[in-house]
Amino acid sequence: MKLKNVRDWVGHWLGRTKMVLGALCVWGLVFSVTTISRLAVAFDYDDTLVLSAAAYQKAFAHGSQPYSPGFWSVVNQSYDLEKPKLVAYGLAWIFRVCGFRVSIMTTRPEIDAGGLRKEWRHLIARGGFIFVADQAAKHAQLQNGNYVLYFGDSDSDIAQARKAKVFPVRIKRSRRSMHKNDYHPKAMGEWVLPLSQY
Ligand SMILES: [Mg+2]
Repeated sequence: MKLKNVRDWVGHWLGRTKMVLGALCVWGLVFSVTTISRLAVAFDYDDTLVLSAAAYQKAFAHGSQPYSPGFWSVVNQSYDLEKPKLVAYGLAWIFRVCGFRVSIMTTRPEIDAGGLRKEWRHLIARGGFIFVADQAAKHAQLQNGNYVLYFGDSDSDIAQARKAKVFPVRIKRSRRSMHKNDYHPKAMGEWVLPLSQY
């Protein structure tokens, strides 16, 4: 190898190394700031983080009365049928890697939900899986805990976040979602995450 080639090669890799070190520094800084200030973000569960239509279908087919404890037991244990929504799920992990506490908030009753909690333990390691009594109870949870963003698909998710003075982000429902009510994206002048139906 000629001397010039060696120099070019070294220069090239020095440049690369500097870039990687620079990115690591930025990440470290972001991570420290978010961790020290204990910033948190929260995601609604059904139709926001996952497409859960298959779990509900299984519960409807199971024979227990809809929305009875038996029904919710089947829904909560059928997380293997649920599909993460790529855009929202990816974003949740980006927040997690950047040092944010990530929580999941759902209005499902907490029945036989041990497996579900365990399934999500890595994403919510520093946050929690929060079961609230109904949509109107979400703002009380969002008020305590340094939340800066709340991601949800329903109109009431947006309203609850605003009530708690947390910035809401609308996640679009999948075309295959079973839920049709309480859903008018952009109608409240909120920010809608592009491609979040996927
Ligand atoms: Mg939802």
